[in-house]
Amino acid sequence: MRILLVEDEDRVASFIIKGLNAEGHTVERAATVADGVALSAAFEFDIVLLDRMLPDGDGRMVLEEIRKSAENTPVIVLSALGETDDKVELLDQGADDYLVKPFAFAELAARIRANARHEQQSSRVLSVGDVSLDTLSRIARRGDVTIDLPSREYALLEYLLRHPNHVLSRQQLLDAVWGFDFDTGSNVVDVYIGYLRRKLDEGYTDSFVETVRGAGYRVRS
Ligand code: CA
Repeated sequence: MRILLVEDEDRVASFIIKGLNAEGHTVERAATVADGVALSAAFEFDIVLLDRMLPDGDGRMVLEEIRKSAENTPVIVLSALGETDDKVELLDQGADDYLVKPFAFAELAARIRANARHEQQSSRVLSVGDVSLDTLSRIARRGDVTIDLPSREYALLEYLLRHPNHVLSRQQLLDAVWGFDFDTGSNVVDVYIGYLRRKLDEGYTDSFVETVRGAGYRVRS
């Protein structure tokens, strides 16, 4: 998964990053509210880990910004503030979970897995514009037409639909659908976008998957 860590303490951040990297996750780190807001606006993350006490303010400001744009991204608050009222307040504001420092890495890893699963289950049918995808039956539709997709095309469409209105780079799509070790010089993403278009756009004048020149691809709701 691609994880955003907002944490100002180097020692805590490197402990978390080391553990997450060992589990195969990619971590971007921000050390301030301003950086956290900027990174969460610029990139799509599968999960956000958020410290409260940051040099330029309260981590909840990052949470507020995230909830404005990426409604479903799970946010786990990491905090030394363990008061019950504080926890309830954060959950009310849209945090998905709350972990009190200090914590064992295994506990953090378990919370990440639990919240990632929750996110997957809560969105069984993904739909963007007139395209929908049932992630249990794996049936795709555009309008009234049912579309049969082989597994890689399915995974690509699912990833696009889970990140509507974001420009996804070829590298992001490669990492998400083909895995991190795939040859990055390959044009496999463009080839498979072509396959998807052939199926999704038949009978339509517009292409469901937009090309954003020099940047990647996007689907819009
Ligand atoms: Ca802190």
